[in-house]
Amino acid sequence: MTRSVHLNILRAGWCQHLECMADRGGRLAPVQFPALCGLIRHPDHGWILYDTGYAEHFFQATRRLPESLYRSAVPVHLPAAEQLSAQLQALGIGADDIRYVIISHFHADHIAGLRNFRQARFIALQADYQHLESLRGKRWRATLGGHLPALLPDDFGARLQLADSCAPCALPGWMAPFEHGLDLFGDASLIGVPLPGHSAGQLGLFVPDAQGRPAFLVADA
Ligand SMILES: [Zn+2]
Repeated sequence: MTRSVHLNILRAGWCQHLECMADRGGRLAPVQFPALCGLIRHPDHGWILYDTGYAEHFFQATRRLPESLYRSAVPVHLPAAEQLSAQLQALGIGADDIRYVIISHFHADHIAGLRNFRQARFIALQADYQHLESLRGKRWRATLGGHLPALLPDDFGARLQLADSCAPCALPGWMAPFEHGLDLFGDASLIGVPLPGHSAGQLGLFVPDAQGRPAFLVADA
């Protein structure tokens, strides 16, 4: 039987970008792109995040050239009340209560808050992590691709669990063409779904029972 979890969607900042960058046929006009995160309460594993949105670390990591180009091209807004840590605190959850962060992919608007969660382990697909590591020291290339390796905690590698090593499982028929997922916790509660394309190894998250109904989080896919 599937384990039921509680899922909440939070917004941790947003950026302004042209609508046509994300929407085929979209206008050549600036629109808001929210940085969304999933806050999950698992009955055995406690508090889990799917992505972190923007955080103060983003502004530190983009102070100098070439990284500052990212900030100029895609202006980021993060009011204090919208910082993920502040929102968690308002819900009575400390940053150190977060046990896992499942990372959809390593673009800066999804991982900027990782350094805030010092007790968390990280779950991601190997292809995406390797791509980010391959960009270390290549600051221009990384920046132009929306990657800021400085956002990773120094001990990231030691805290990372590769989703690739989780047991494969069948997905329900309505999710076609997706047929197989990765049972991230071995209890059918949270299923990783590889969604390559937007990044080398983007990881979607299928939640079979989120308060009694299924949810499929696809990040930027
Ligand atoms: Zn992205």
